[in-house]
Amino acid sequence: METETIRVDREHLAPEDLKKAATIIRKGGLVAFPTETVYGLGGDAFDPTASKRIYAAKGRPSDNPLIVHIADISELTRVARDIPQVAYDLAEKFWPGPLTMILNKREDLPRETTGGLNTVAVRMPSDPVAAMLIREAGVPIAAPSANLSGRPSTTCAQHVIEDLSGRIDMIIDAGASKIGLESTIVDLTCEPALILRPGFITKEMLETLIPDIGFDRAVSGKPGDEKAPPKAPGMKYRHYAPKGELVIYSGNRQAVKERILAEAEKSLREGRKTGLLVFKEEEASFREKFGDKVTIKTLGSRDNEEEIASVLFARLREFDDEGSEKIFSEALSDGGLGSAIMNRLMKAAGYHIEQV
Ligand code: AMP
Ligand code: MG
Repeated sequence: METETIRVDREHLAPEDLKKAATIIRKGGLVAFPTETVYGLGGDAFDPTASKRIYAAKGRPSDNPLIVHIADISELTRVARDIPQVAYDLAEKFWPGPLTMILNKREDLPRETTGGLNTVAVRMPSDPVAAMLIREAGVPIAAPSANLSGRPSTTCAQHVIEDLSGRIDMIIDAGASKIGLESTIVDLTCEPALILRPGFITKEMLETLIPDIGFDRAVSGKPGDEKAPPKAPGMKYRHYAPKGELVIYSGNRQAVKERILAEAEKSLREGRKTGLLVFKEEEASFREKFGDKVTIKTLGSRDNEEEIASVLFARLREFDDEGSEKIFSEALSDGGLGSAIMNRLMKAAGYHIEQV
C-alpha cells in the first residue's frame, strides 16, 4: 500500500485541507493524525473492519481496545450510555484535552473497537487538526497511538513514517505533538473512579472533582503481577521500549550519578554500544567524562517536567538509531506530571529499576 503524506499548518487550517483524509476515514481506510498528546492512527469507530485494520497495521493484540475520539460533547451519547454526571463535569473542565474517560459503551459500537469489552474509552482532543478531521469525517474516530506495537509512541510525522509507512493510507504531518505523552485514562465505571494510566492531567488535578480518586494498582506494579491485572489492557504489554536494554537508577542524586558512571564504564569495557539518558543538570559532567564514547541524550531540565514529557519518546527512539545496546537513566521524582513520565520510563525499562 502506498502511504500518502500531507503537510498542514495548525495555525491556518481550512476544512479543504482535510477533505481527502476525511473521505479515507469514511470509506474505512486509515489515517495517522496529530493530537496534542501523541500521533494517533485513526479509523471509523463504527466500522469493525477499520478497527481490525488498525490492529493489523500496528501489530497490536486484538484484546487491547482503542480510544474513540470525538469533536463535540454531543457525540458522547453516540458511543457511551449510562453517563454519570461526573463525566460531564470532567468534560467541562478538561475537554478538549488529554483526558480519556472509560464509560459503558453503547450496544451499536462494535466490539472490535473496544477490544471485546462492554466499556469504551472516549476522548476529545484539543489539537485543531484532530478536531477538524473528526468533524469533516462526521464519525467518531477510533485511534490508538500511531506506532508499531511495543515501540515508543510517535510524537511527529517522521516517527509515524518510520513505523507505519506502507501499512496505512495517509499520514497528516502538522509538526510535533505539544505534550508528547499519551492521555490520562480515568475509569468512571467503578467506585471510586480510578486512574488507569497517568498522563498530563494529574491525580492532583482530578482530585478537585473526584476527591477519592485512586490509581489502578497496575499503574505502579509490574506487568504480569497476578494480584493486580491492569484494568487498561494495554498497560500489561511491554511498551515504549527502545531496542537496547534500559536500566533506571533511583536514590541519592550523587550516588546515582556515580553508579551510572560505573555502569557505563563497565558496559564500555564489555564492548557494548552504551547510552545515557540524562537531565540537563548532569549532561556536561557526563560528556566531560565520556566524550563521544557513549551516546548521551538529554531530557531537559529536571525542573521542567513538561519539557521532559515532550521529548521522552523521541529520545528513546534516537537510541535505536544509534544502535545502543545498554542504556542507563536516572529516575525522576514521583507526583504530578513526574508520575506519568516515570510510568512510561519504567515500562520502557521493562520495570528494571535499581535503588542506589
Ligand atoms: P493507546 O491509544 O495506544 O495509547 O492505547 C489506548 C489505551 O487505552 C490502552 O492502554 C488501552 O488498554 C486503554 N483502553 C482503551 N479502551 C479501554 C477500556 N474500555 N477499558 C480500559 N482501558 C481501555
Ligand atoms: Mg499506544
